[in-house]
Amino acid sequence: MRKWILFFLILVFADVFAISSLKEHVSLDILREAGIPVEEMENAGMSPREMRLYLPFWQDMEYFPLAVRPQEREDPFSFTDTWMEERNYGGKRKHEGCDIFGKAMLSGYYPVISITDGTVEKVGWLPLGGWRIGIRSPKGGYFYYAHLSGYGREFLEGEAVKAGELLGFLGDSGYGEEGTCGKFAPHLHMGLYTRYGQDEEYALNPYPVLVYLKDHTKEISY
Ligand SMILES: [Zn+2]
Repeated sequence: MRKWILFFLILVFADVFAISSLKEHVSLDILREAGIPVEEMENAGMSPREMRLYLPFWQDMEYFPLAVRPQEREDPFSFTDTWMEERNYGGKRKHEGCDIFGKAMLSGYYPVISITDGTVEKVGWLPLGGWRIGIRSPKGGYFYYAHLSGYGREFLEGEAVKAGELLGFLGDSGYGEEGTCGKFAPHLHMGLYTRYGQDEEYALNPYPVLVYLKDHTKEISY
């Protein structure tokens, strides 16, 4: 009798396992259809559960956050995956974003544009982020652009912005009181957050998003 119970239990477990792995496959197909680079994300060590967090706002994204000039011969921007690396300013903390550097190490030179349509949720100075702007996309992604040298125009909280609109310029503001500059090499810090359960600002790694957006770089004359 005991044997049969054991056999039955094994069957149940096998079934649950098969169904959940099937579910996993189906949902990965949904991610692929939405344009999410599943293989790259897998290679970067991301689980399907993590990948799914990008799904709601994936199609809101239109442009790489830095624009190039038409005459630019080679890609001037570089970034690497530094997600959760140690940072020291403002106490020990983890790097919650991705930093993009321009070839010319200049502040106020490269235009930062909005990745998505959206609404300005936060704008102005932060001791850590310097001149920053945070934009909530229509499907709930929160895109945080920090260390700007200045803004493209005056932005007000609650105001609408368009994908590709000039937000400001890549800079080196931050790490101090309002107006502090030059404490580090100029770069754009990109943060990416989503609503997850009760958490309005659940941090996601922007790196795979930026790799994907690299093929969607906007050309503008400036
Ligand atoms: Zn950063």
